[in-house]
Amino acid sequence: MNGKINKHGNLSMERKGKMKPVDCPWTVDGMDKNGVEQQRYCGDWCALFGEPELYPPVLPEEKTTVALEICNKSLFFETFTDERNKE
Ligand code: SF4
Repeated sequence: MNGKINKHGNLSMERKGKMKPVDCPWTVDGMDKNGVEQQRYCGDWCALFGEPELYPPVLPEEKTTVALEICNKSLFFETFTDERNKE
């Protein structure tokens, strides 16, 4: 799986070949002009959002993996980009 944290700290994951921003299922960030509640993106603004950690391969046939802990799950990525602090 491919993943990315963009320069704003928001997480995106690849879904069916396309990178898509990941909404937080636990939060609402106000309402749009039509009064529909808008969810916030899952991202590093949240205290439950970990930092990506690199796991080098142990066996020759394995690949380097990036693990990211979020609220109640560990996500594992084969390809991961962290665009924070990059301009
Ligand atoms: S880590 Fe969990 S609670 Fe925090 S923003 Fe992401 S999905 Fe929401």
